[in-house]
Amino acid sequence: PVLRVAIMGLGGYGTRVAEAMKACKKAKLVGVISGTPAKIKEWQSKYQIPEKNCYNYENFDDLKDNPDIDAVYVITPNALHHDQVIRAAKAGKHVICEKPMGLNAKEGEEMVRACKEAKVKLLVGYRLHFEPKTLEIVRMRRNGDFGKILFFQGQCGFRIGDPNQWRLDRALAGGGSLMDIGIYAVNGARYMVGEEPIWVTAQEMKTDPVKFKEGVDETILFQFGFPSGAVSSCLSTYNMNNLDRFFLNGEKGFAEMQPSTGYGPIAGRTHKGKLTQQHVTHQTLQMEEMASIILEDKESIIPVDGEEGLRDLKIIDAIYKSCQTGERVELV
Ligand code: NAD
Repeated sequence: PVLRVAIMGLGGYGTRVAEAMKACKKAKLVGVISGTPAKIKEWQSKYQIPEKNCYNYENFDDLKDNPDIDAVYVITPNALHHDQVIRAAKAGKHVICEKPMGLNAKEGEEMVRACKEAKVKLLVGYRLHFEPKTLEIVRMRRNGDFGKILFFQGQCGFRIGDPNQWRLDRALAGGGSLMDIGIYAVNGARYMVGEEPIWVTAQEMKTDPVKFKEGVDETILFQFGFPSGAVSSCLSTYNMNNLDRFFLNGEKGFAEMQPSTGYGPIAGRTHKGKLTQQHVTHQTLQMEEMASIILEDKESIIPVDGEEGLRDLKIIDAIYKSCQTGERVELV
């Protein structure tokens, strides 16, 4: 069986996913949802998409009457994910949603509940959960190769350009660098350490309050404590380039990745040597695996379900809270 996918939001990342899906055997792009008729026309001819599989943001609830689409992949600005995912679920379609899954834990909980009630699967576009070098480090950690895990460091950021883009508009982005790029360190800390944080501390810095308005974070430093006693220290920023690095330290060894979250190839080494796993286009691998998760109930090595997206949102809420109060936030 092939997972028949409609992409919602035909922007930069939607285009990347569509191109990557050309190489998929188990997933196929068969539909689009867009507010721009000209883009729909262009995608129809580029990907042979029939008229009956084209929707806009007003009428996509009609997907419920379309048996030729199995799943909707939501790739729109962050603030739209919540309502769009719930509407797609109510139309009876499985949903893949880009990160961050929603703006906060409350939204995330509502999304998970709606998909459960509609009996559809909800997956989050965590492409690195299928990335071979990442999975090798997770395998080694589970195998005990690093010994007891003590420390993780994640540094994620880039200097953001155009001040008028949605990523710098609180209403559409729900925040700033943390929602967009820092989330990779939040998520990475969890899968590299292999535990869930029990406390969070965080500090925010802003050098340019004109570009980064109220509620749009420029730079945040954040720390987690884990049940085993391991700790992490991470940086999220929209104001520094060449920042894409993970470091994991244990009693018996280490892993270092740079780049660690970009489109790849990912590069890294451990105390045992260089990581040599083959690079495969992340979005191709992701969509192949997600097709198996949706159609065959396959379990991924690192989860990519709605609960996983929700865990990150709870931590992000705690990071923002700690920035505001200056206090340590306990997660239970
Ligand atoms: P983009 O600006 O390139 O595309 C967004 C698309 O949404 C555009 O086509 C735009 O027309 C459309 N849109 C629909 N309603 C809109 C509205 N009300 N306001 C503004 N635009 C609207 O952005 P992008 O880079 O494609 O990001 C989209 C989503 O994908 C974000 O949630 C982002 O975090 C995520 N993303 C994930 C990755 C990844 O590696 N997993 C990479 C990039 C982006």
